[in-house]
Amino acid sequence: MADTGPEDVRSPFATFAREMLTGKTAFVTGGGTGIGFGIARTLGLLGARVVLVSRKEDVLVEAVSRLSGEGISALYQVADVRDFAAVQGAVDRTVAASGSLDILVNCAAGLFHAPAEELSENGWKVLIDINLNGAWACCKAAFEPLSKAADGGRIVNIVSPFAWLSWPGSVNAAAAKAGLISMAHTLAVEWGRYNIHVNNIAPGPIGGTGGINRMADDPQRFAEELERTALGRVGEIADIAEAVAFLSSPAGSFISGADLLVDGGRQYNVVPSKVRNLRAL
Ligand code: NAP
Repeated sequence: MADTGPEDVRSPFATFAREMLTGKTAFVTGGGTGIGFGIARTLGLLGARVVLVSRKEDVLVEAVSRLSGEGISALYQVADVRDFAAVQGAVDRTVAASGSLDILVNCAAGLFHAPAEELSENGWKVLIDINLNGAWACCKAAFEPLSKAADGGRIVNIVSPFAWLSWPGSVNAAAAKAGLISMAHTLAVEWGRYNIHVNNIAPGPIGGTGGINRMADDPQRFAEELERTALGRVGEIADIAEAVAFLSSPAGSFISGADLLVDGGRQYNVVPSKVRNLRAL
């Protein structure tokens, strides 16, 4: 079975109305795995038709089959987000099959770790290309259908608080996410007149994803991470997926250009045990 992540246990119906997104089509890059899969599942359970977009067809087939098994209307499109023509083709086929494209979630990303002084020219370019240029390609390709979306088009970029905090070992990913955040702010202003809402969600460490699974193999590192998170836990994929659902819902109809942190208080990077006795400081 493809690595689509763990079963999500939290039901979106505890928070959102059933069929809240019925009639909407959501185009989710990176939708075959991890957080992207969880986002597609949540939007799909709420009634949206979901289109999963990435490079590996076998992963996409497995993911669509899992979603279909839950009664979700799911399709996939194979595309490398670095390839503008492939992205445009995926958008055009989505609109032809579904009649609309209402929600774009830019979740596809690559990541690898290297000290900045050892990073090759290609190592820098490849992450700017996937994480930033790829998201721009999707925004550009989806502009027209998003501008025709019945209740306003929605773009949600999955970014990272490390873009502004610093991301030692991942200067390329940090720079790409910072570019994505900035792109959303400008698009929110330029495309407001087309009723397209553009927002960023910045997840903290999310359990059940590859990076956090690797971190959990090192108990000391994992404990340190938890110490830095005010709420004392890593996030769940559902925490991110439901934030995307919120921004895609009628409740998000006056939200654009926002940066929504979903990180349990991690960005303050303070060790809570050190602030328990504030009078002693
Ligand atoms: P993941 O499972 O590795 O997902 C990355 C996805 O991107 C894969 O489905 C991959 O599919 C797709 N992808 C990569 N390169 C692509 C390309 N060139 N074209 C099209 N698709 C491509 O990662 P994740 O941990 O769930 O992370 C998802 C997002 O959340 C990322 O944007 C990440 O930066 C962000 N985030 C994650 C965390 C965390 O704790 N995990 C924290 C903060 C932010 P293919 O290989 O099939 O192309």
